[in-house]
Amino acid sequence: MSQPKRIIVIGSGFAGLSAATSLADKGFAVTIFEKNEMPGGRARIFQAEGFTFDMGPSWYWMPDVFETYFARFGKKPSDYYNLVRLDPSYSVIFGPDDAIDLPADFNQLKQLFESIEPGSGGRLDEFLRQAAYKYEVGIHKFVWKPSRSITEFMSPRLLYDVLRLDVFQSFASHVRKFFSNSKLLQLVEFPILFLGATPENTPAMYSLMNYAEMTMGTWYPMGGMHEIVKGMVSLAEEKGVQILLNHTVEHIEVVGRSARRVITDKGSFAADVVVAGADYNHVETNLVDAEFRNYSDTYWQKRVMAPSSLLFYLGVNKRVPRLRHHNLFFDEDFTLHAQEIYETPRWPSRPLFYVSAPSVTDPGVAPPDCENLFILIPVAPDLDDPEETREHYFNLVMDRLETYTGVTIRNHLIYKRSYAHRDFKTDYNAFRGNAYGLANTLFQTAFLKPGLKNKRLNNLFYTGQLTVPGPGVPPSLISGLVVADEVAKDFASNHLKPNKPLTPQTSQA
Ligand SMILES: Cc1cc2nc3c(=O)[nH]c(=O)nc-3n(C[C@H](O)[C@H](O)[C@H](O)COP(=O)(O)OP(=O)(O)OC[C@H]3O[C@@H](n4cnc5c(N)ncnc54)[C@H](O)[C@@H]3O)c2cc1C
Repeated sequence: MSQPKRIIVIGSGFAGLSAATSLADKGFAVTIFEKNEMPGGRARIFQAEGFTFDMGPSWYWMPDVFETYFARFGKKPSDYYNLVRLDPSYSVIFGPDDAIDLPADFNQLKQLFESIEPGSGGRLDEFLRQAAYKYEVGIHKFVWKPSRSITEFMSPRLLYDVLRLDVFQSFASHVRKFFSNSKLLQLVEFPILFLGATPENTPAMYSLMNYAEMTMGTWYPMGGMHEIVKGMVSLAEEKGVQILLNHTVEHIEVVGRSARRVITDKGSFAADVVVAGADYNHVETNLVDAEFRNYSDTYWQKRVMAPSSLLFYLGVNKRVPRLRHHNLFFDEDFTLHAQEIYETPRWPSRPLFYVSAPSVTDPGVAPPDCENLFILIPVAPDLDDPEETREHYFNLVMDRLETYTGVTIRNHLIYKRSYAHRDFKTDYNAFRGNAYGLANTLFQTAFLKPGLKNKRLNNLFYTGQLTVPGPGVPPSLISGLVVADEVAKDFASNHLKPNKPLTPQTSQA
């Protein structure tokens, strides 16, 4: 390349940072425009009253994907943050006097299964042996496919793999071949529930999540999940990426069949390629003219969304007993909660919820002798979320949390903030206030997901949790790398020929 081509990336979430870093590494001149004052998207942090709160992700799974990411650039996660493995991995609460800690050690985990359902320890081995294959094929092969065409999946070897991945069998029926005890079923099904669809509607392939969780472990970057973002930002800047915070993209201007300028609230900038890492629907609906959209409003309305979330960030002025780092409150009927998310979307009657207490592991995220709590209630997308509703759920979960821990918490709060649909919309332009994108259903997998390339413009690409491979931190990292490879491929094959002489330098309007 004689003169570096200018690439504009919209959004500095995991996917935008990943795409930008990889493109800069390939020799492009990359600028990220981020509307918020901090990079990281859904994985931002905020500080209040001496507490540091991670705003979104809290589970660090699939450490190999993070290693692969940093290794692309000759780095390791440990160059940027300090990971510790959690033990127990997490705790599941079935009732006030009924909780199970999941040990990190696999033999102890098998013994635990055996003690709940005789014979299930051995069956866990077989379940995970099959899941290991799915992880190997799913995470090392399939998720790296750009899925621009079904033909990518047409080789005899891949078709064989697809069949062995159990994509046509539901997760629910698959796990019932191995376990029948209701507690074990809930333990095995939980990663699916929190990531976006019912076990009945999720392909059995996603037992790869169980493999990741049970054999590779649950980890935590000391300082919080945002440490990953800080590491990625350092790496991006090392590669020459320019990150412009507080720059909201308002329009993508098209000439002929190419995106040519990106109009922000701070000025307009020329581009040879645009990679949109902001919420896909927002880009389609608000940033490009209707004639250049990939998908109609009807298409978007038919998508099955993963749940949104009602969140609480709480600073408690004392330690809270019985809590582990990750605590899943499965003390209510999941079937009802799932119906109220997916079938008849409404505020749930008796929801399950999740509590993260990172201060159990990390003294740095709370003042001395205090507890940092993050509470997540999965709820249907697109609900109205007035203060009274949030407060109703706050009291509902507090009643259960206080009963379980045996202490009062409400009287000991020195910080409290809630976060739900309208915040997701305001902060991230999130379609229907989604928290983590599309549900992982069969008909929203691979080439059936919103595509990573605009079909009408030769130089507009998409990355992030609403395109391939899907939601979650590891898939978002992969999404950025995959799209960067596609951009480079299109340049190499000359698909990205400009219509007009290029303006290679950023120019303010
Ligand atoms: C509450 C919650 C809990 C989660 N828990 C986990 C977990 O434990 N483990 C896990 O692996 N995953 C988890 N996830 C999912 C994971 O966080 C996401 O899948 C991932 O962060 C998505 O990254 P992204 O880059 O696709 O999108 P985003 O993080 O949303 O990044 C998009 C960026 O684009 C910016 N943007 C939007 N519009 C514009 C515009 N017009 N101009 C400029 N910038 C714009 C936004 O501000 C944002 O910074 C969780 C998500 C949430 C919300």
